Parts: sequence; C-alpha cells; structure tokens
Amino acid sequence: MRKLAAGNWKMNGLKADLAEIAALVGAHSGADCDVLICPPATLLAPMAEAAAGRIAIGGQDCHAKTSGAHTGDISAQMLKDAGASAVILGHSERRADHGESDADVAAKSLAAYAAGLTAVICVGETEAERDAGSTLEVIGAQLAGSVPEGATALNTVIAYEPVWAIGTGRTPTLEQIAEVHDVIRETLGKAFGEEAKGMRLLYGGSVKPSNAEEIFAVSNVDGALVGGASLKARDFGAIIAAL
Ligand code: 13P
Repeated sequence: MRKLAAGNWKMNGLKADLAEIAALVGAHSGADCDVLICPPATLLAPMAEAAAGRIAIGGQDCHAKTSGAHTGDISAQMLKDAGASAVILGHSERRADHGESDADVAAKSLAAYAAGLTAVICVGETEAERDAGSTLEVIGAQLAGSVPEGATALNTVIAYEPVWAIGTGRTPTLEQIAEVHDVIRETLGKAFGEEAKGMRLLYGGSVKPSNAEEIFAVSNVDGALVGGASLKARDFGAIIAAL
C-alpha cells in the first residue's frame, strides 16, 4: 500500500512559514509516498495554493455539525472549501485540552466523511496506562468508540500516538510499535473486514529523520504522523525520503 507522511503543525505557523511548503513541494518531487500537511486553520487556504495539488492539505479538527451557532468552530465542509482533503481527529491534545470523547471523535469522523474528507483518527495510551499494562485494552476501546461505521480504506487513516512519546523525544521500542499496530489491524479487521487491510496505520510521537527509517520498516506501519519535525522542510523532507 502507498505510504503516507503526514505533518501536524499544531498551533504553529505564520504566513512567513509558507516558504517551507514551497521547499517541501520541491523535496517531494519523485518521492514514492503521499504527503499531507495539516497547518493551523488560518494557513489552510494559502497553503493549499502553495502546495498546488502536489501535496495534500488537512485540518486539525472539525465540528460534527455542518454549520450553525458554534463560535470559533470550523466544519468539515469549510475545511474542504479551503482546500483540505483530510482532517486529523481525536488527537490526544484535543482529547485532553477539549475533553473530546470517543463518541465526539466518531461524530466528527462522520462529518468528515460527509464532506468528502479523509479522517486521520488518533488513538494512543498515556504513560500511566502503559505502566499499568492496559495499552492494548485502551487502544481497543478507542478504536471501537472513535471509528464509525462507514469507515473505509479510502476515508480513514488511523494514527497510533502514545501520549508519552509526543514531543518528548521518547519513542516506544520497535517491538512495542509492532505489537500495537498488529492489534490495530486485527481489531479493524474484525469491525470492517476486507476494508481494514487497506487502511493506513501511521505511527506518531517523536518521529525524526534519525529514527524514521527503522520505524517505517515495522510491520503494519504505513507511514507517520509527525509533529515538531514536520515544521521544517529539511527535516520533513528527510522523513519523506525514509519512506
Ligand atoms: P511530535 O512529532 O512533535 O512528537 O508530535 C507528534 C504528534 O502529536 C503528531 O500529531
């Protein structure tokens, strides 16, 4: 399956940073994988223009409704209108900062599908959950609650992001990544049958040029969701090259 290098800019990026996209479009020519950048909403439209269809652009969240009295929120349709083809949903920072539940994430995913966006649905355990030995149980429950009926290989990507590995420079061992990704594939298979075989499973959490190649070689890892190292074209370009 074609791999995916996805960048999550989080709350970073001003107009001046669009130069990174121009550089990335150059670096990506000839790369044998898909590239997606999810900038803050303020940069979606200009970034989509700068990307010129050579790399895909995505949002970082959307509301479950299409429109209405929801000050500060953005609908999936609006993301699409601004040039997005995907949206990250249920990132652990959204779950923690905004109290998003699995049911919220499932509702947002349905809104994304209805707008024609690919949902990049995030799951991952906290350090306390890993220490308690409940990682696989936590991931299983998040998948069951967050990935709605109607998920297909085309409209859904799953990102495994252990909370304790995000922005910390710490990563699970390759065996730990393989264990979780294998279980994600198996769990999706039980719920979605053949479609699950084509759903891309990304690893996220302190991916950088120096560890990308070994992580991408792990079973059932179909790409990465990259935070900090996606902000600079040089770093993200090196990660893309490792795919
Ligand atoms: P870092 O790559 O900065 O650890 O962030 C990972 C992440 O949260 C991507 O969504």
